[in-house]
Amino acid sequence: MSDVSSIFLTGLRNAHAMENQALSIMKPQVSRIENYPQVARRLEQHIAETEGQIARLDQLLAGAGGDNNALKDMALSFTGAMAALGHTVAPDEIIKNSFANYAFEHFEIAAYKSLLALANHTGNSNAVQLLTQNLQEEQDMAAWLDQNIEPVTLQYAALREMGQTAKK
Ligand code: MG
Ligand code: FE
Repeated sequence: MSDVSSIFLTGLRNAHAMENQALSIMKPQVSRIENYPQVARRLEQHIAETEGQIARLDQLLAGAGGDNNALKDMALSFTGAMAALGHTVAPDEIIKNSFANYAFEHFEIAAYKSLLALANHTGNSNAVQLLTQNLQEEQDMAAWLDQNIEPVTLQYAALREMGQTAKK
């Protein structure tokens, strides 16, 4: 296997682990949301998109001589993004999670841009097509999160003023 193919395969495995981590961050968040239905709906949508992204990565890994072994995902998983889960004890968790999600989506955007550079370099048009779909969904989610920061912050402030705990 060439160096480029090896780098690409490693990148696919890391992306697979990243997407499973994305699910492990978003699912607990959405289960805790009570007062921000628009955030819950968008997270639900992105959870479904993420499952599709994992299926595309599975397809590419199968074609690249890799596999989608979950234990490998655990070995490769990074821990920094787990900060989102640590926010669940804070009363302003909805705000802190909006920061963490914004950061995570940009991590994903960078990962797919890197994979796309390799796929384009090797003329792997199937991978370019599938990875572009993943990238587009991350960019759409990042754009939504960007637009959500102000309204969710003001909604949190309004709920606090109304005397609600506004926790979730
Ligand atoms: Mg993703
Ligand atoms: Fe994402």
